[in-house]
Amino acid sequence: MGIEKEIWAEIKAAKRILITAHERVDGDGIGSELALRQMALEAGVEVEIVNDGEVPATYRFLPGVETVRVAAGGLEKPVDLVVSLDSATRQRLRSVNDIIQPEVRIVNIDHHISNTNFGDLNWVDGEASSTGEMLFAFARANDLNLSPEIATCLYAAIITDTGRFCYSNTQPKTHRVIAELIEAGARPSEISRRIYREERLNVLNLKRLATATLDFRLNGAIAWMDVTADMHRQTETDYLDTQDFVDIPKSIKGAKVGLLFREIAGDGRIRVSLRSEGHVDVNRIAEKFGGGGHIRAAGCTVEGTLAEAHEKVLAEVVKAMESQ
Ligand code: AMP
Ligand code: MN
Ligand code: MN
Repeated sequence: MGIEKEIWAEIKAAKRILITAHERVDGDGIGSELALRQMALEAGVEVEIVNDGEVPATYRFLPGVETVRVAAGGLEKPVDLVVSLDSATRQRLRSVNDIIQPEVRIVNIDHHISNTNFGDLNWVDGEASSTGEMLFAFARANDLNLSPEIATCLYAAIITDTGRFCYSNTQPKTHRVIAELIEAGARPSEISRRIYREERLNVLNLKRLATATLDFRLNGAIAWMDVTADMHRQTETDYLDTQDFVDIPKSIKGAKVGLLFREIAGDGRIRVSLRSEGHVDVNRIAEKFGGGGHIRAAGCTVEGTLAEAHEKVLAEVVKAMESQ
């Protein structure tokens, strides 16, 4: 039996499942959670979706999102299976770990090459553009109905993780999947409008403050910018609003590596996002700081001030670039 069928058999055998994804849930995480929720519900399985934190406003149009809860609220009822989506490690589930009953089996479905296979059943496909693309294959392998709601959620998952089909994880297969999702009822212009063309003015103001910090090394081959706690205060925004800000340094002509440094208010740590265009493996750089991800998109968290984080992380990026 293929892994897709094995996982579906476990889900169907369960009465109630918990679906979760990595902290600071993104479009792939939430889209995948909601798509799998629909698949399970249609098979008569009860579902709870619980994450470490809130769903960013951008994704609150997705069908079923109103049922998503945060771990601080606990489980509504005991579950007999956990499905972790889009999370490379168990630690990245953060506070959701506190509500997982120790005896419950964990299914781990993910596309990060740094995945630690922490589940009892692991399906990790580092070639897939997104967890959403894996769940499309999952639906096909198990002959599941692709409702317009499921198609919408998977479309959102794939478009966000491929950076609107711009990143190198975009493959012919990705577009074939997208074509089938549109045929199944996903509406591209509507989904793109909700995700990309309804920017709130305070987020745009935050972007203005952040772009003022743009800085460069190696003649512009490394570009980075900061988001500070003070900027959030000034613009009444929070970290949920900055998920795609790393695209700004990364999309400057000549930048081979783009970084975003985000201050996490009150806990003395800096969240670093790394993106690479050329041959620099940012996953390896992030791993040096206890993070990970993909070759061209990765993240980590560094102790200290912004200046300290710049120094530590940029030194590793310079080293990686000079050793090429
Ligand atoms: P981000 O910069 O947070 O958008 O993350 C870039 C990519 O790396 C995403 O696919 C993340 O899921 C992944 N990633 C970020 N942080 C980590 C981490 N600490 N461990 C593993 N993967 C991560
Ligand atoms: Mn993700
Ligand atoms: Mn993903």
